[in-house]
Amino acid sequence: MADLARLSINQATTREQHSLAQAIAAYAGAGVTGISIWRDKLADCGLGEAAAMLKDHGLRVSGLCRAGQFPASDAAERQARLDDNRLAVDQAVALGAECLIVVAGGLPEGSRDLPGARAMIRDGLGAVMDHARAAQMPVAIEPLHPMYAADRCAINTMSQALDLCDELGPGLGVAVDVYHVWWDPDLQAQIERAGDRVLAYHVCDWLVPTTDLLLDRGMMGDGVIDIPQISEWVDGTGYNGLIEVEIFSAENWWKRPADEVIRTCRERMLSSV
Ligand code: ZN
Repeated sequence: MADLARLSINQATTREQHSLAQAIAAYAGAGVTGISIWRDKLADCGLGEAAAMLKDHGLRVSGLCRAGQFPASDAAERQARLDDNRLAVDQAVALGAECLIVVAGGLPEGSRDLPGARAMIRDGLGAVMDHARAAQMPVAIEPLHPMYAADRCAINTMSQALDLCDELGPGLGVAVDVYHVWWDPDLQAQIERAGDRVLAYHVCDWLVPTTDLLLDRGMMGDGVIDIPQISEWVDGTGYNGLIEVEIFSAENWWKRPADEVIRTCRERMLSSV
């Protein structure tokens, strides 16, 4: 049974119901410990205003979403993305985020060169890590389910993410999101391998059937992932940080009243995580 004090809610879970300011107030008001923030919502709110509100409400920030998106067709665009990654590091520091989430990026438009895209990810991440280390901001690579390899993220397994951590050194770790990695026959071994490099733990559920590959994530307990088993493996590494509920659900949870969504997150943390 997960400890309610470890509950963080990724603001995408109430993306349609809340601005960032509204999400901060609502989560804190419901006794939730943390929030994960998206940069588009942050831009609407303003960095200074968001940082002040977080402090006033005593909310922890389990992560800032997101940096990454390294592969691009030309050098100018790749450089622009590096600049944006460094800005994201600075924003994460200003918010007191516990890590910066990296979604690495997929194939550049028109490309079929998957190894080339992965090389751009390695080089881009390597170039950003100097700044992140100087700022003392941990960077979490989030492997995404292989169905997103083309358009979102060509890092698709814990093993790939940890190989990058091994190669690029300190300051880098992984975000374990059950939605992306639950199917992996090597998951337990790779979580053990990660050890103290688990920087974030994201939960939701895989629905059967899934009607949309991006926007039909389930509430914990409504799908087929053995979340308590994965939680045990993650906690077995010594990870005792926040557990973040992250649900993109265009046809279900985004259409419900926010207080019902938050209440359900709290209940399912206790029953299904
Ligand atoms: Zn996630």
